[in-house]
Amino acid sequence: MLDLTGKKALVLGIANNRSIAWGIAQQLHAAGAELGITYLPDERGRHEKKVKDLVEPLSPTLFLPCNVQDDQQVTELFSNVKDSWGNFDILVHCLAFAGKDELSGDFSGTSRQGFTTALEISAYSLVHLSAAAKPLLSSGGSIVTLTYLGGVRVIPNYNVMGTAKAALEMNVRYLAAEMGAQNVRVNAISAGPIRTLASSAVGGILDMIHHVEEIAPLKRTVTQTEVGNAAAFLCSDLSSGITGQVLYVDAGYEIMGM
Ligand code: NAD
Repeated sequence: MLDLTGKKALVLGIANNRSIAWGIAQQLHAAGAELGITYLPDERGRHEKKVKDLVEPLSPTLFLPCNVQDDQQVTELFSNVKDSWGNFDILVHCLAFAGKDELSGDFSGTSRQGFTTALEISAYSLVHLSAAAKPLLSSGGSIVTLTYLGGVRVIPNYNVMGTAKAALEMNVRYLAAEMGAQNVRVNAISAGPIRTLASSAVGGILDMIHHVEEIAPLKRTVTQTEVGNAAAFLCSDLSSGITGQVLYVDAGYEIMGM
């Protein structure tokens, strides 16, 4: 049985009720995990309030800001985790960013700054957070991140985010190889297209979803809950033999050639 009772899970990437991280947090909670939630702080504190109200029913025992571009915030996050929880078991990395200008038009038009920012937030952050989490992760721990098919195949307008996801997927393998020695597993879920704040920035996201509905074996795309269920599995002891993998939760779209 999928049981996360007694496990502590830190979830990064909830922006609103459409976020994939929200689907994951709900399923981890349903399986009995104790939650820590982070939010991306903004000057007016609006993100904090929105995320706080949303996650209240899940009774998180930690609720902290974390902008992954700010080293001090990452340090403070894990110092709070250490003080409140000591060790913990699960790290969910469910965040990405690329400027809207980079997510349409010619890939060769990607700017140096746009490339750097996308790779820093969407790929390097997993390395940085894993390093900070490493001394605190219990034996049997699990790190899960979110990727997309655009990191292995060309998807119109995904552009530099494809490069970032390719880097992220390779990060998963290197981190899995390193962290296996302390019995911590690292995996990615490659989700099918879902309408969220982040995906709305990708030009033609609705066309992508309609294409998947036509072509995928299940004739539909997936939901946040389905991704959440797969994440709960990867975070649980039921997947104890799986590490360094990319699990496709995409209604089967990835297998299709035509
Ligand atoms: P979302 O907009 O709900 O989530 C993106 C999150 O990234 C937000 O919570 C945002 O606050 C956070 N974020 C952005 N910059 C940050 C920073 N500097 N520091 C900390 N957090 C930051 O969108 P989503 O679709 O749920 O995206 C979650 C993950 O799922 C992303 O990695 C995305 O690439 C991936 N993914 C999404 C889809 C899809 O179709 N929606 C498909 C496959 C993979």
